[in-house]
Amino acid sequence: MDLGIAGRWAVVCAASKGLGKGCAKALAGEGVNLVINARGAEALEATAVELRQHNPNIEVRCVPGDVGQADVRAALLAACPQVDILVNNAGGPPPGDFRDWGREDWLAALELNMLTPIELIKATVDGMAERGFGRIVNITSSAVKAPIDILGLSNGARSGLTGFIAGLARQPRLAARNVTLNALLPGSFDTDRLRKGMGDDNAKVGEWLQAIPAGRFGHPDEFGAFCAFLCSAHAGYLTGQNLLLDGGAYPGTF
Ligand code: NAP
Repeated sequence: MDLGIAGRWAVVCAASKGLGKGCAKALAGEGVNLVINARGAEALEATAVELRQHNPNIEVRCVPGDVGQADVRAALLAACPQVDILVNNAGGPPPGDFRDWGREDWLAALELNMLTPIELIKATVDGMAERGFGRIVNITSSAVKAPIDILGLSNGARSGLTGFIAGLARQPRLAARNVTLNALLPGSFDTDRLRKGMGDDNAKVGEWLQAIPAGRFGHPDEFGAFCAFLCSAHAGYLTGQNLLLDGGAYPGTF
């Protein structure tokens, strides 16, 4: 299927590795020009080289830096001739016990995982509406649907973003102008972050896999393929949704 987005421009945040890279790669495959970001400049540039090899017909620009910082976000937007597609992503907040977290810990999580995507949306969404096309995908977490005890900072900050987007996506000035806002909720995907969380304990990996009916971890490429479809010309009637990609791990009917 031709996704109908060749020649468009996308900003993909936190895209040198893992899920963000999976999204960038799938969009590149569809002929979308990219502005990609991550803090580590070397890994970011290496990813850009891969993406250009994946599709030599697209332009790939790199903006290194912490997307939680206003000057980095400004540079991201300045590097993109027009933002047709925005994929919001960043590292997740650290695990822990809420009794140990102070105000600064909460503010850092809210800043990176709630307010940063909202700032980028604010800067791009009305231009998308004027042009009659826009796709915003927020990478959140399965923890939005089924909270994970030790990830309280993530549960809280991402739920805040989710609630805000639920209202924004339904504004007729966006929805009726072919601008969609959706979230992808990853379960367990095979990325550096997941591997770091599991360590080298094979028993722990086995236990983890048992909780996933698919019997495996997700691959960043399949996450990216789903993201590309959400960004496609065909997905204009799908907005305000939170889509779980978890190999069946969530046990509920809805
Ligand atoms: P990953 O493999 O560790 O990759 C994270 C990417 O984000 C890297 O490119 C990293 O590069 C970049 N990054 C991190 N913090 C950044 C920041 N402040 N500014 C700019 N770039 C930043 O992680 P992942 O597994 O793809 O996870 C992506 C997001 O999905 C995270 O928020 C994670 O919590 C969430 N998630 C993942 C899973 C999963 O199973 N993998 C499940 C649920 C939720 P630099 O370090 O160089 O900046």
